[in-house]
Amino acid sequence: MQSPDRVAVVGAGAVGLTVAADLAANGARVTLFERDAPGAGMTGRAAGICYDAYAEDIDVSVADRAMVRFRSLSGDGAFVFHETPYVFLARTGDDASASALREAVERMQVHGRDVSTVAADELGERFPIQTDDVALAGVAENAGWADPAAYVDLFVERCEDAGVEFRVGDAVSVRSDPPGVAIDDVVTARFDAVVVAAGVHSRRLLADAGHPIALKPYRVQALVGECEYDGPIVYDATDESYLRPHPAGVLAGDGVEPVEADPTDWDVTADDWFVRESLTATSHRTKTTPTVERAWAGLCGATPDRNPLVGAVDDGLYVAAGWHGHGFMWAPAIGELLAGAVLGSADESLPQQFDPCRFDGDESFAVVDGMTLDGDGESREK
Ligand SMILES: Cc1cc2nc3c(=O)[nH]c(=O)nc-3n(C[C@H](O)[C@H](O)[C@H](O)COP(=O)(O)OP(=O)(O)OC[C@H]3O[C@@H](n4cnc5c(N)ncnc54)[C@H](O)[C@@H]3O)c2cc1C
Repeated sequence: MQSPDRVAVVGAGAVGLTVAADLAANGARVTLFERDAPGAGMTGRAAGICYDAYAEDIDVSVADRAMVRFRSLSGDGAFVFHETPYVFLARTGDDASASALREAVERMQVHGRDVSTVAADELGERFPIQTDDVALAGVAENAGWADPAAYVDLFVERCEDAGVEFRVGDAVSVRSDPPGVAIDDVVTARFDAVVVAAGVHSRRLLADAGHPIALKPYRVQALVGECEYDGPIVYDATDESYLRPHPAGVLAGDGVEPVEADPTDWDVTADDWFVRESLTATSHRTKTTPTVERAWAGLCGATPDRNPLVGAVDDGLYVAAGWHGHGFMWAPAIGELLAGAVLGSADESLPQQFDPCRFDGDESFAVVDGMTLDGDGESREK
């Protein structure tokens, strides 16, 4: 196969920017189409939490690669990867979460993750968090957080340095056979390859090109609270909420609506109930009294098996979407892997589990978000 020379990337979120930079760094002539501004999609709404606490081979290898790259990028410009342990806990009385947590930690350890179970008193001795109601916790040492806006700035610069042409303000549609990008319905630009990294909009773009994918958007929420907090990242498996330290105090989230959302018509503001409940939970866990600086909603993308859709849907037409709330933390690895696959690099092969054609695109499936410490021991939370 001849390596494509001219490649279009649609979408300048964390994923599109990374793949564009990696393609250009490896010799492709890349045009990046973004209808709004770089990072204006879900990347700009992400909490920026990163970890390798996974129980499945494939997740572990992608997360490992991403974490190594995050660390190598830290200190480049304003981008900083903040090393911070990731605590996931089950509360007293929630026996199902406690036993799922124990099983998940065992499976993470089998995969060589630096993760351990700790009891409430030990957790309280190590971290400045409320542990009175904790039945059992897992602590993953290989974790941290980064500001998604700083990652966007860094990769815009990397793209520019590598010669990527930015077309900002163009809401494009996609063509297949041959691959191309239509700036309006009249003018179609031909490319040797097109990568659709348009987040939750990828389904419509590809459906219009005749390639439906199994992707459902769902709404999630987050807030920043002003307070003094210098503790770990915490995921509470009992109420499925999370928090991390933030320059203003704390960033907290949950508010998942496990139903399909319309990516063209959804409420971008946080719900009152979410702000109220999130503040109460955060205040309790951090032993502080946060006041809301800002709160917001966003969309994540679900797939039937909770693996993303990354790879070719047709000759020269690729997709990278369906992250279940993990698109930021996986972007550094997905960019490398997908750029390698597009360019036909012998060193890179995309995991079969991510093949977007493993589904027909018309499947009916339930939306399952984030980390469910379920019976399979899977850990998939932001
Ligand atoms: C509240 C919240 C918290 C989150 N927390 C985390 C977290 O802690 N860790 C984590 O890993 N993930 C987290 N996520 C998920 C994360 O935000 C996403 O998985 C990630 O940003 C996806 O990146 P992306 O590049 O695929 O998509 P996006 O960032 O959405 O980028 C897609 C881009 O495509 C553009 N686009 C769409 N249609 C077109 C078109 N027709 N033409 C041109 N451009 C187009 C959009 O404008 C957008 O800029 C969170 C999400 C939310 C909402």
